[in-house]
Amino acid sequence: MYTFGIDIGSTTSKCIVLKDGYGIVGTSLLVGGIGTKSPEAAVAIALQTAGLTRDQIAATVVTGYGRNRYQGAEYTVSELTCHALGAHLIFPDVRTIVDIGGQDAKVILLSADGRMQSFLMNDKCAAGTGRFLDVMASILQVPVEEMGSISARATAPAAISSTCTVFAESEVISQLANGVEIPDLIAGICGSVASRVAALAKRIGVQQQVCMSGGVAQNEAVRNALSQAIGHPVLFSEIAQYFGALGAARYGWQKLNEKS
Ligand code: ADP
Repeated sequence: MYTFGIDIGSTTSKCIVLKDGYGIVGTSLLVGGIGTKSPEAAVAIALQTAGLTRDQIAATVVTGYGRNRYQGAEYTVSELTCHALGAHLIFPDVRTIVDIGGQDAKVILLSADGRMQSFLMNDKCAAGTGRFLDVMASILQVPVEEMGSISARATAPAAISSTCTVFAESEVISQLANGVEIPDLIAGICGSVASRVAALAKRIGVQQQVCMSGGVAQNEAVRNALSQAIGHPVLFSEIAQYFGALGAARYGWQKLNEKS
């Protein structure tokens, strides 16, 4: 039995085709989220990679920021529920998920059986989200995907004192003009995102084990700084950016099982 999870984010569209609630047989990830053609294109690519047609899918579930504008799914489910389901599938002992996406950051606490217990979210300010990293990467003219590895070359991480993205932008430009090295600046930028999100995590109360989800999970400098700031290891999966889509597909499988 195949179920399909679609996560339409603010920045990217992700899909997962799941076989029997566990095996990933198709994936897609396209830049462009709500309001773009990416969700439909991502659906087509995921089906293609799975070698399936839409009528072979038993249930389709949509989640993410753009979920309410998507027609064509049997179920529409919140990101919080889907990230919880996806993270729990990969890390069965995880109790805290730190999700940093393109436009917001969330800290989600799970029960031992993987259900969402509570959460805190920052969706008011770009600092502490992928957007902050995207803006800084563009100023420094480096790909956002390379920020983690460039940061590893830092010798004296820069202090980024502004908590506002717009002020931090001027601060980075002036530090650059003063000769601060790019790896040092990037280490400071990644550290600043981590400390914002760590403050959110501390407010809700971190419980072990901790994992990251969302696109920023791929940035090892943010992961390491977050781990240091919260004082716990942070688990990482190569498919962390797909946890919402994975949880959506898993939700579809659970619903079909409830019916049978
Ligand atoms: P959303 O669901 O809100 O659309 P995602 O969870 O897909 O967002 O995360 C998008 C963000 O992830 C981007 O803004 C970018 O900063 C970051 N990102 C995406 N790919 C990578 C990568 N390979 N390495 C580091 N950061 C990445």
